[in-house]
Amino acid sequence: MTTAILVHLGLGSNLGNRLDFLNQACSELSAVTLRDFRASAIYESEPLLQMKQPNYYNQVVCGWTELSPVELLEKCQQIENLLGRVRKERWGSRNIDLDILSYGNEIVDTEKLKIPHPEMEKRSFVLLPLLELSPDWVHPESGNSIRMLWEKWLKTNDEELPQALKTTNQSS
Ligand code: ATP
Ligand code: CA
Ligand code: CA
Repeated sequence: MTTAILVHLGLGSNLGNRLDFLNQACSELSAVTLRDFRASAIYESEPLLQMKQPNYYNQVVCGWTELSPVELLEKCQQIENLLGRVRKERWGSRNIDLDILSYGNEIVDTEKLKIPHPEMEKRSFVLLPLLELSPDWVHPESGNSIRMLWEKWLKTNDEELPQALKTTNQSS
């Protein structure tokens, strides 16, 4: 029997109808991949490294899966392809991006897959929605909870915080 693992995924979109892309990705993930699916609010944030790109809409979702880490990555990439993601340069604009943030408390460190996501502690658009969903999840490498990581982030950054969208009605 395979046991289900609690995973967190980071979603981002900065091209086209951003709400619609996040909404469609959530539908795909909640249909079969993630059980007891939960989604954070959607946050608007500026692109990384002040790149000249449209603002992002970001969201974190979680749920229980029986897929292995690599199978989950493949599923995420299938959904990106289904929604028409065109792969150009890294960190380029994209209509949808799905990153695996955590897979239970496992550590994966291969060329094509790194879990927990190596940049999560630096990214307010990941930590803030994670704080909403799972403040007590503990990072398996540092031993810090999301709550602690967020406090650390606040102490060491003075960037503007991502803004939660007022509406959670994702059908518009
Ligand atoms: P970043 O990972 O810094 O957020 P990105 O999302 O823009 O950058 P992509 O172009 O979407 O990067 O993905 C590049 C590669 O990252 C993927 O082909 C995948 O093999 C690899 N990768 C490594 N770890 C992960 C992870 N935890 N989740 C998703 N992809 C990952
Ligand atoms: Ca990403
Ligand atoms: Ca990605």
